[in-house]
Amino acid sequence: MDLNISVELTSAKKQKPEIDQLSFGKYFTDHMFIMDYDAGKGWHDPRIIPYQPISLDPAAKVFHYGQTVFEGMKAYKTAEGRILMFRPYKNLQRLNRSNARLSIPALDENVIMEALRKLVLVDEEWIPDEQGTSLYIRPFVIATQATLGVSPSEQYHFMIILSPVGSYYAEGINPVSIFVESEYVRAVTGGVGNAKTGGNYAAGLKAQQEATDKGYSQVLWLDGVHRKYIEEVGSMNVFFKVGGKVITPALNGSILDGVTRDSVIQLLRYWDIEVEERAISINELVEAYRNGTLEEAFGTGTAAVISPIGELNWQGDKLALNEGRTGPLSAKIYDFMTGIQRGTLEDPFGWVVK
Ligand code: PMP
Repeated sequence: MDLNISVELTSAKKQKPEIDQLSFGKYFTDHMFIMDYDAGKGWHDPRIIPYQPISLDPAAKVFHYGQTVFEGMKAYKTAEGRILMFRPYKNLQRLNRSNARLSIPALDENVIMEALRKLVLVDEEWIPDEQGTSLYIRPFVIATQATLGVSPSEQYHFMIILSPVGSYYAEGINPVSIFVESEYVRAVTGGVGNAKTGGNYAAGLKAQQEATDKGYSQVLWLDGVHRKYIEEVGSMNVFFKVGGKVITPALNGSILDGVTRDSVIQLLRYWDIEVEERAISINELVEAYRNGTLEEAFGTGTAAVISPIGELNWQGDKLALNEGRTGPLSAKIYDFMTGIQRGTLEDPFGWVVK
């Protein structure tokens, strides 16, 4: 397809927020990328234009049947002003796997990478460079055809928007309390749990809200069939250190294939720490806790990188992990990952892209 991305620069640059005003996804940069799809024509008209609202017909399929996918990745500015991205092709491959599951036509990953590069450079001055800050990148697709029939859309927009984000951990990496969810489920194998699509997140809101009301920051999802195997924590993958080795749920079709998850597994093996990807029941975890072998637990994801778990509430029992403090392995992984992402540590894996 056409690699020729046109650029229309804004004539009215926005005021940039102060670093301490940044939270997650609140401010957007001056430009965005957009490209259209029409059956017969394919993806066409890739362009960078001033950030602006879009106009859609009320019958656009995305509003009714949720035919949409998205990605989440980050660009970092180093102390010397270099701009780095972390394994961007992994996200673009996952975007296309999500597309395939949602019957959305595939995107050319090289075109999207070029669009990303160009857009980030156009809005380079929006990338914060303070410790812990980054530019969050949100590529997404929406079905725009204006017909109410339940069938794959024949028209789409693919877009990329950018948002400067503040440090996830304003006061250093901190453990969170987690409520083990036994009423609601997030996804089932055969469904869309392994695709990054809006409906999964809408389905999780109610459980999240109830956990928040009980004073917990996230839920630990169990599988939807046996209602006992661990899946994910909030919108992160989850790891446990038990008896010296690390275990994490296998990718069984209902779990998102996290880029951070994959990186942490590779990193642990590089450090000669044994990692098992397999089914883990909540009973196995509770037993490990009771016999003193459950040493640490943490979530992994682009937003927080590592989120240590300080407490698990399982049917009213409060299991305190590592005495509610950040465990040494969680801290070590966090320091390594954020170090290579920000260019302060050498990257032995070739994950960082300039
Ligand atoms: N699970 C879900 C449901 C998510 O939304 C995310 C965030 N993309 C993750 C796991 C972590 O994935 P990643 O490490 O690629 O950010």
